[in-house]
Amino acid sequence: MGPHERPSSLSPELVRRICAAVDERFDEQVAFLSDLVRHVSLRGREEAVQDMVEGSLRARGYDIDRFPVDGALVGIHPAFSWAAEEHLRGTNIVATMKGRGGGGRSLALNAHVDVVPAGVEDRWSSPPFEPVVRDGWMHGRGSADMKAGLSANVFALDALQAAGVSLRGDVQVHSVVEEETTGNGAASVLARGYRADAFLCPEPTDERLVRANSGIAKFALEVSGIPTHPQEPGKGRSAIDLAVRLMARLRELEARWIAERLDKPHFAAIPNPVSLTFGTISGGEWQASVASACRIKGRIGFYPGDDPRRRTREFEDCVASTTGDDPAFAGAPSPTVHWNGSVHAGYELEPGTAAEAVLSSAHAAAREGADGLRSSPMPCYLDAAVFAVHGGMTTLVYGPVGERIHGIDERVDLASLRRVTKTIALFAAGWCGIDV
Ligand SMILES: [Zn+2]
Repeated sequence: MGPHERPSSLSPELVRRICAAVDERFDEQVAFLSDLVRHVSLRGREEAVQDMVEGSLRARGYDIDRFPVDGALVGIHPAFSWAAEEHLRGTNIVATMKGRGGGGRSLALNAHVDVVPAGVEDRWSSPPFEPVVRDGWMHGRGSADMKAGLSANVFALDALQAAGVSLRGDVQVHSVVEEETTGNGAASVLARGYRADAFLCPEPTDERLVRANSGIAKFALEVSGIPTHPQEPGKGRSAIDLAVRLMARLRELEARWIAERLDKPHFAAIPNPVSLTFGTISGGEWQASVASACRIKGRIGFYPGDDPRRRTREFEDCVASTTGDDPAFAGAPSPTVHWNGSVHAGYELEPGTAAEAVLSSAHAAAREGADGLRSSPMPCYLDAAVFAVHGGMTTLVYGPVGERIHGIDERVDLASLRRVTKTIALFAAGWCGIDV
């Protein structure tokens, strides 16, 4: 290790200067984050927020590469998942700042700008896309997941510049789309040839490092019944009733998969790493007719190291065996399963990487040594998996304290965001190497 490689080798005076530069810009960072949240960047509607991000990075002097999600690679490149036509729109941004050279390592700071729907908006204590700060938390859809992280990436690098620090290695700032549905935004970045010696993605992790991340597959189940008039229900098969029966059987499969966690590293203490989720359901055609069709969309999770195809086959086998041995299905067309979003393996971050060592000391320095970096598994899809599994690159997921992500009254802790921004600044300095 050279002397420039660890933040612990940054002089205490320089650490103070970098942290002070984050503090000085923090109001501006919160305003930037508010602007991001105000953009309703639901899937398919990210272009306006990307315009804003592009403009602000261009004004800072980055080289901008803005390019579309590459739908032509679906089914060809292994990092891509099947997507509906409307999910193949949208553009990614990779903004690059060339380093000064001299032996530094490169870094990619990654974030996604797409957000999930707000749900029932009048159950929010304030409108989901009008950010408000209360008691030190910013409330709003996407505030934690993960527009706060994007603001941290941008303002961490601003702080270094303001502190008179120039990095030896190249830095990329990624602003990608399509994380919440397929991961094809991140896959397009990888397929375009972007590489770095380390990736950092500040998803809301409560200031912990993600040690392991579960795989995921998203399904669309089409259940068919036999429609009939309610005067002769015995002649029909309600697709809605059949869907309920099928869901119960899939819950049994989920229970078997959950039981496997006891033999898996990292996941034994997580009550439900599988999280079979029936996210949407729609069925029936007429209030007073026995339903002919019912559609369920959802997701399953599985363990790092699992081949996603094995898990999707087990799911399909469960559907097929239910219809084979439950007489309620007799005479009805067989249900179909379509994998209609991310189908992706999970990953594990091996302990002991150089990147983790640098992050660990940056984390400690930003908190004035208050406590050490903890790690934990995360049972959900992360774009980091694209870079780790298909790019073979060291990928750190570490970000601020957030609450109720994908829920009602999502919020991010601004004091935590400030600490994470300092950590990222110190990490970038330690990882990329500096000239002062
Ligand atoms: Zn996220």
